[in-house]
Amino acid sequence: MLFKTVLDKTIDFVYPHKCPICNTIILNSTDYICKNCRSQIYFNQPPYCKLCGVHLSNTKQLCKTCAELLSTENYKFWYDKTVSYFIYKDTLRKILHIIKYKNDLKLTKYIGNKFAKMVKNDKSISKIDYVTPVPLYFKKKLRRGFDQTEIFSKMISKETKIKLIPDLIYRKKNTIPQSELSRTKRAQNVKNAFAISKRYNIKYSNILLIDDIFTTGATVNECARLLKQNGANYILVVTLARG
Ligand SMILES: [Zn+2]
Ligand SMILES: [Zn+2]
Repeated sequence: MLFKTVLDKTIDFVYPHKCPICNTIILNSTDYICKNCRSQIYFNQPPYCKLCGVHLSNTKQLCKTCAELLSTENYKFWYDKTVSYFIYKDTLRKILHIIKYKNDLKLTKYIGNKFAKMVKNDKSISKIDYVTPVPLYFKKKLRRGFDQTEIFSKMISKETKIKLIPDLIYRKKNTIPQSELSRTKRAQNVKNAFAISKRYNIKYSNILLIDDIFTTGATVNECARLLKQNGANYILVVTLARG
């Protein structure tokens, strides 16, 4: 029921129009995407692993992978908690693909609106001071015209009234897409890829770090490391989807 309520509430699209996912003509709905595509958006159901947001079938706090990583001497979790609202498959996978490769701003705002509302209703954000996105390399942003994670962060800030710092973290170098790499390679790939802007004082602050997909957490962990080493107290990672 929650699914339906959340997805049916945005009525700001004129009809008839084509569903951006499957190209079906939508005649009698004011929703931007068709009913069939909407039915293939899946919530990440609780309980979750506290560190990677994966759904757990038992009531333990951590999944097997995170429990193992936690006991590994050379691995450190720099962030405190992860929440991911949707499962990265079917429609959501298609949405993120279209956003990335077709620069669909309307679709970005459509899913960003759902995302922002989920964050607003999440008790995890109660003590957060700032919201900030995992940044895209500036040349990629120039090429693409926009950065969906930055747009999501803006919408989340507006919805939750949490102060946005869009440029707290920046990318010093471009990296190979994480999706092509193994867990170990992912961590190496993002190591020292980011830096923190010295313009902001984040000492003792609680930060909400936004990204689109959580897979192994290598990217958010590297950003969280910098935030913590620059004095941040608590890092909550929130992603649209769990890969
Ligand atoms: Zn559709
Ligand atoms: Zn886990």
